[in-house]
Amino acid sequence: MRSTKYDVIVIGAGIIGLSTAMKLLERYPYLKLAVLEKDAGEGTQQSGHNSGVIHSGIYYRPGSFKADFCVAGRASMIRFCEENDIPVWTCGKLIVASDAAGMERLSTLEERGTANKVSGLRMVDAEEMAEIEPHVVALKALHAPGTGIVDYRNVTSVYADRVRATGGEIHFNTELNGSRVVGGVTVLDTSSGEFETTNAINCAGLHSDLVAETMGVETGLRIIPFRGEYYKLKKESEFLVKGLIYPVPDPAFPFLGVHLTQTMKGWVEAGPNAVLAMKREGYRKRDFSMSDFLRTITFPGFWKMGIREWKTGVWEINRSFRKNVFLASLQELVPELTSDDLAGTGSGVRAQAVDRAGNLVDDFRIEESPRAIHVLNAPSPGATSSLVIGDYIADLASENFGLTAAPQVAVSQVAGT
Ligand SMILES: Cc1cc2nc3c(=O)[nH]c(=O)nc-3n(C[C@H](O)[C@H](O)[C@H](O)COP(=O)(O)OP(=O)(O)OC[C@H]3O[C@@H](n4cnc5c(N)ncnc54)[C@H](O)[C@@H]3O)c2cc1C
Repeated sequence: MRSTKYDVIVIGAGIIGLSTAMKLLERYPYLKLAVLEKDAGEGTQQSGHNSGVIHSGIYYRPGSFKADFCVAGRASMIRFCEENDIPVWTCGKLIVASDAAGMERLSTLEERGTANKVSGLRMVDAEEMAEIEPHVVALKALHAPGTGIVDYRNVTSVYADRVRATGGEIHFNTELNGSRVVGGVTVLDTSSGEFETTNAINCAGLHSDLVAETMGVETGLRIIPFRGEYYKLKKESEFLVKGLIYPVPDPAFPFLGVHLTQTMKGWVEAGPNAVLAMKREGYRKRDFSMSDFLRTITFPGFWKMGIREWKTGVWEINRSFRKNVFLASLQELVPELTSDDLAGTGSGVRAQAVDRAGNLVDDFRIEESPRAIHVLNAPSPGATSSLVIGDYIADLASENFGLTAAPQVAVSQVAGT
């Protein structure tokens, strides 16, 4: 056991864990705070494997956490990037409808986006569409000029620098394996030894359900990993995409459908799809973990979801294995695309919480237990919203952990431990 006793330990150095740590240290600089991360660096999982879009808040039900966090999150993300010299490009997004059903859903999106006060959002006709994205063919489109792109790995690294600069510690290669409470103090058993803390925050992404269980909390949720596979466009085909081109998403799913996106990484991506992964960090089709697989199939909610959505599942597997099916989805956006335009590949894995009734949890889910906070569902637009989520968790922590603005005594002493 190390001699230091921490006031707060955050588990997971993704964009949410580090934003939370940063926000807590900004408010309470006296805190003895550490972030524990099982991998060798920050942002190695979802935060480093996403589409890099700074969403503007069109899709989300007004009044939901997603709507509120995303709209405020976009503004704060752009400001943060400007202040920290992180390159951002506000390239705009076109959501395109190619049939009558799509047109109807597009109107719902316009209503939602307007209710969420997404600035500059408006319907465009074929003529304007051709000016914005000359290679798109569709009946109608919704244009969101304020949507942007960033490399969230850069953002996550700056959060990590800020945490260290304000006195926080980040321990890499430190995996939480167990937890127990002894005399009001939580002892975290990790691959780098034991850590004592008064308060803990679970930001473990794909492992957040496991970490909650380790800390004695039954959430009724299970993280089901969904891999998102991408193609890259060949350099000579990148002219086909000016900014961000999205289909109208299926309202039954929290995923946005395969899209074409400029990225700050220097290439254009096409994807991601959404296939069930056989491993929490299963970035390749062949990745398999018996324990992850068993956890998925022994959860009653998985089977209820499977019975309801098996057709979509089969369709996604087909699209995953057959490039021409994937291409057909992209051609609904840009018909000129051919198989020759698609070159390299990439992937990310989404941590999607599913409840016992088999529902894919759509909104962010953040729950509390005594002296602990658990981020149980942080899907897209989690990266866009990370600064606002960090603030929200800091608000919860202030109350739950009894933090005060400028105590002369450390929290661990206040708690009498
Ligand atoms: C394919 C894809 C596309 C997306 N596109 C977008 C987008 O365009 N825009 C957007 O806003 N959002 C997007 N998202 C969502 C966004 O990436 C996530 O909301 C965000 O990254 C979640 O951050 P996190 O910190 O919760 O999780 P993570 O980044 O996964 O971090 C969790 C961390 O916890 C660590 N950890 C887990 N278990 C333990 C343990 N036991 N001990 C110690 N450490 C542990 C992990 O190693 C990991 O580093 C996308 C996500 C995916 C997967």
